[in-house]
Amino acid sequence: MESFEYTAHAARVIFGAGTLSRLPDEVARLGAARPLLLTTPSRRAVAAGVRAAARFDGVAAHTPVEVTARALEVARSNGVDCLVSLGGGSSTGLGKALVARTGLPLIAVPTTYAGSEMTPVLGETENGAKTTRSDPALVPRTVIYDVALTTSLPAGVSVTSGLNAMAHAVEALRSPRANPVVDGFAVDAITRLGRALPRVVERPEDLDARADALTGAWLAGMCLGAVGTGPHHKLCHVLGGSYGLPHAETHAVLLPHTMAQHAAAAPGAMRRIAAALGVSDAPTGVFDLAARLAAPRSLAELGLTEQGLAEVAGAQPGAGPLLREAWLGNRPA
Ligand code: NAD
Repeated sequence: MESFEYTAHAARVIFGAGTLSRLPDEVARLGAARPLLLTTPSRRAVAAGVRAAARFDGVAAHTPVEVTARALEVARSNGVDCLVSLGGGSSTGLGKALVARTGLPLIAVPTTYAGSEMTPVLGETENGAKTTRSDPALVPRTVIYDVALTTSLPAGVSVTSGLNAMAHAVEALRSPRANPVVDGFAVDAITRLGRALPRVVERPEDLDARADALTGAWLAGMCLGAVGTGPHHKLCHVLGGSYGLPHAETHAVLLPHTMAQHAAAAPGAMRRIAAALGVSDAPTGVFDLAARLAAPRSLAELGLTEQGLAEVAGAQPGAGPLLREAWLGNRPA
């Protein structure tokens, strides 16, 4: 018999194509009327069609505190009463950083597969160092998934953020905090991402494939929100935080290797992942999927030098061999 704890981080979810048009109603539903719209420069054109009391389109990767300070100034000088983040994990990150500083409610409109909208976690960078905090108050109040906004997501970001999502689900299945609810989300997420990502790359405008991938990302985000991160994520954070490696790409490269290292200790999880992907072996199955999707293959390709590799391997007991394999881009044995 299994004993477990499960905490749901409830957000109201609106899912469909064209659902961005529901935003004004959702703002009103929160009792608000003056939203601040947060986005990246590349999403500016989409954001321009959204009614807002104020706009900040300077979202940057890794949520630098100086960018948050600028956005906070915009929020204060315009008397806003709610926050709307539109974009990938970086936009959601700024939204959460502002929730932490203002207590205003956040509506997230995610347009990648990063899944941050479903978690209480916020990573911020200050003077080049990344710190993470977790607080249920940071979870968006409402999440609007608009599948139509994801058709413009380039193949490269679709694949890497999709594999980042798969990493959330894979880690959840072998988490010490695993439970039957999260296991169900994780297997469904892996199934959906495994079948949808090749279709998304082939036909980026296919709304059914995009909906499948976005649902997988949502479920994977719920896994991360419920059980937190494990050794794979920790290694990715070291490589991202201290060596500047890009977030989603690092997940994509490392995932098959961290899975191979932990496979022997988690045979049940590996069987379920393999079954969800329709392959006989989970780590090589993920490696082959990533290769088929033309994801980056090696840490060297992402800019980690051999000296950097030696440093991380030295600081991460037991991870040396897997890091070398990932650095070289070898298929796990
Ligand atoms: P991102 O948000 O940086 O987006 C990558 C690029 O894609 C940006 O230039 C963005 O403008 C562009 N883009 C986004 N949606 C688009 C669309 N539909 N069409 C065209 N271009 C689009 O990258 P990401 O991978 O989504 O997020 C990574 C960040 O999220 C990292 O900082 C990571 O730490 C964080 N993250 C946090 C959590 C959490 O739970 N806190 C979970 C996952 C990721």
